[in-house]
Amino acid sequence: MQSLTNRSKQVVKQELTFAEKIYLPAILNGMKITLRHFFKKKATISYPEVKRDFAPVYRGQHVLKRDENGAERCTACGLCALSCPAEAITMVAAERNKGEEKLYREEKYASTYEINMLRCIFCGLCEEACPKEAIFLTDRIVATSLNRSEMIYGKDKLVEGVNERIDISDRQTSEVIEFKRIRIFSITNCNCWN
Ligand code: SF4
Ligand code: SF4
Repeated sequence: MQSLTNRSKQVVKQELTFAEKIYLPAILNGMKITLRHFFKKKATISYPEVKRDFAPVYRGQHVLKRDENGAERCTACGLCALSCPAEAITMVAAERNKGEEKLYREEKYASTYEINMLRCIFCGLCEEACPKEAIFLTDRIVATSLNRSEMIYGKDKLVEGVNERIDISDRQTSEVIEFKRIRIFSITNCNCWN
């Protein structure tokens, strides 16, 4: 039969040499490769006993920050939920009562604030959108669960403790603050929300 191209070639079955017939060189060669990898630095780690260092820009579990007096910074403006591409954030806004000034910084606050960690893609857009510097992504790992309802994080898991502050200063570089300032300026000067 005539071939369609001139690239075909007839394969001639070759006789095995003596060395190939006894397989010994091939076995030794295989062992050499195995031994070489045996003494190489391992590419894997024994997690969770050993943990890798994360990059400074790693985006893990969120934190809802308090101000210097311990009051919650979030004012339930909803910008984080609006900018979330995964629609993972929900909240209920409430008005601050007299005497609650130490609990909530603004007159409006989030009585309920939830993030569905199964939906979250850790893009960090909520952090960027927040005009109150209230929400940040940290280097903490979100624990897995076999129960879906446990993956919806409420304020009990998100708001930092009054005496257990979570340091996000590494993420608050001057470049980041400047970027946010420009972004907020462009948002407040457009008609996007009308
Ligand atoms: S990190 Fe991204 S996906 Fe997750 S809650 Fe924030 S905006 Fe939504
Ligand atoms: S976290 Fe920030 S953006 Fe989200 S509701 Fe609170 S103040 Fe607004």
